Amino acid sequence: MTVSVRFAPSPTGRLHIGNIRTAVLNWLFAHRSGGSFMLRLDDTDRSRSTEAFAEAIRADLKWLGLVWDREARQSDRMARYDEVAEQLKKAGRLYPCFESEDELERRRARQRARGLPPIYDRAALKLTPDEIAQRIAAGEKPHWRFLLANTEPSRGLTPLPTLVTWHDVVRGEQTVDIGSLSDPVLIRADGTPLYTFTSIVDDIDFAITHIIRGEDHVTNSAVQIQLFEALDAEPPTFAHHSLLIGADGQALSKRLGDLSVESLREEGLEPLAVLCHAALLGTSEAVAPYATLDELAARLDLSKLSRAPGRFDIAELRALNARLLHMLPLDAVAEHLDTLGLDVSAELWDAVRGNIETLGDVRTWLEVVNGPLAPRIEDANLCATAAGLLPPEPWNAETWGALTAAVREATGIKGRQLFHPLRLALTARDAGPELRALLPLIGRERVEARLKGNAA
Ligand code: GLU
Repeated sequence: MTVSVRFAPSPTGRLHIGNIRTAVLNWLFAHRSGGSFMLRLDDTDRSRSTEAFAEAIRADLKWLGLVWDREARQSDRMARYDEVAEQLKKAGRLYPCFESEDELERRRARQRARGLPPIYDRAALKLTPDEIAQRIAAGEKPHWRFLLANTEPSRGLTPLPTLVTWHDVVRGEQTVDIGSLSDPVLIRADGTPLYTFTSIVDDIDFAITHIIRGEDHVTNSAVQIQLFEALDAEPPTFAHHSLLIGADGQALSKRLGDLSVESLREEGLEPLAVLCHAALLGTSEAVAPYATLDELAARLDLSKLSRAPGRFDIAELRALNARLLHMLPLDAVAEHLDTLGLDVSAELWDAVRGNIETLGDVRTWLEVVNGPLAPRIEDANLCATAAGLLPPEPWNAETWGALTAAVREATGIKGRQLFHPLRLALTARDAGPELRALLPLIGRERVEARLKGNAA
């Protein structure tokens, strides 16, 4: 069996950290299994879907490095959905209904008042073909419901407890009683097919083998399994991953706008850090940086996803980003540095990567190295002595040790009293990369000027 998965966002907004989790888990699974990863744009809701969002989703996935093998748009497949809907109508599994939303709400209120569950009473199934034809001829537009298989011929149309079960890769045995659900509307009165339906037609047509998505879809899965069966198709394997929650334990849903791929990118985070974080939260693996998606894929399989929610904390993502940068070689960040307009040598990268949180912080150290920089003079005598003891160039990683030894010898000052004033004069900062590495990069001319208190 060739593994085939899909990531199916609706182009009604930007991708956010919650979608990224679904996308990366699908991508990693396809990659591990030598399978294919499809981008499917669920855009049947024409009033909310836009081309601009579709384009932004593609751009976000590209930035993340989640390359897709195939793409489909539901709006291109309307004729196919009509065809399959006809098939369901013929089989008596899709039936027309004429109730208005107000009418349905009144019925639900009555059911609640009588202590009954507010599920659709299937009144429309009692309409005769003539009655239906007349209403349509009179200009009424039906919406269409899927008849769930939860009845017994001898008991009429009354839904009975009916368990749909499946083995979920993440959640284990799952059981949903579809006797407690309303027959879902699959086609709106304006003719628009709904996601519950179109998704299944696509999953069948594109031979999707695994549906990996958030656990908010568990109930949908029971209905969708019945749809697969109604269409004589084998349901794929399901894996419902846990959702991300905020550091405060609350659902992330309200804050997802701030956690869009766009804002994470603007914050200067590395795509790999975002992916490692989104994938590894709520798993039995430690949330750690991986230098490539291959390495992450080798580490994480679906069996490691736990049912516990992943706790998302932007501060932890920033820390993970820093850890990732500390381990990446220059060529892994070269492209990103380029987009930031930063020209960085291998020596500078090695000197500073341990002291940055985001790649943009390299700019600070480039300025320290290239100047001009106003030095901070804490101990003018000490700095002047150091200026007088500077060896001739070429300088290397030994120069700093030799210089400080000479200054210590000449002044008797050691430890923090020695190092701190020199660091302040040379970098105008209290902390930073090792001066052993920075000194040759700053160069003799600028070092001498700064030790003498001059901007350089
Ligand atoms: N468009 C659906 C969503 O974004 C897709 C769910 C699925 O993967 O089936 O929730």
